[in-house]
Amino acid sequence: MAYIRKSAWLIHYDGSSCNGCDIEVLACLMPLYDVERFGIINTGDPKHADVFLVTGGVNVQNLPVVRQIYEQMPEPKVVVAVGTCACTGGIFKDCYNMIGGMDHAVPVDVYVPGCAARPEAIIDGVVKGLGILEEKRAEYKRLVAQQKSAQRKEAT
Ligand code: SF4
Repeated sequence: MAYIRKSAWLIHYDGSSCNGCDIEVLACLMPLYDVERFGIINTGDPKHADVFLVTGGVNVQNLPVVRQIYEQMPEPKVVVAVGTCACTGGIFKDCYNMIGGMDHAVPVDVYVPGCAARPEAIIDGVVKGLGILEEKRAEYKRLVAQQKSAQRKEAT
C-alpha cells in the first residue's frame, strides 16, 4: 500500500441496501473499530469527500443521485462498493427496477463482498481505496504540472 500523506474523508450513501451493510459501516465508526483514529471522517458533504462508500445496488430511482454525488466530489476520488448488492446487485438484481451493481452508475475502484460485509472487510476495502487514491493524486499532480508546462511554452 502507498504511503498516505493526508487523512481521507468519506461519504456514505445507501443505494438500495437492506441496511445490513449500513449497520456494518456504522460499526466501523463505533468505539470497537473506531476508524476515526486513522483520520477517516464520515462527512455528509460530497465536496469534502475523497472516498465514496456505497451500499446497495443501482436502481432507476437512485442512479441520478449516485452520479450527482460522485460528480460533486473533487478529483481525485475513489469509490468503494460495500456488500454483494453494491458489487453485483446481489439478491435484488432481478427486481423490476434494479439495474445492477454500483459500477453501472460510477467507476468502482474497490469491491468489498459479503452479505453483510464485515467491518474488518470494509476497513480493508477503505485502506485499499486509500492506496489507489494516493496513486491517483500522484497522477493528477503529474497531469497538472504537464498542463502548466504546456501553457508556459504556449505563452512564450
Ligand atoms: S449485501 Fe446483504 S446485507 Fe448488504 S445490502 Fe445486500 S442484502 Fe443487505
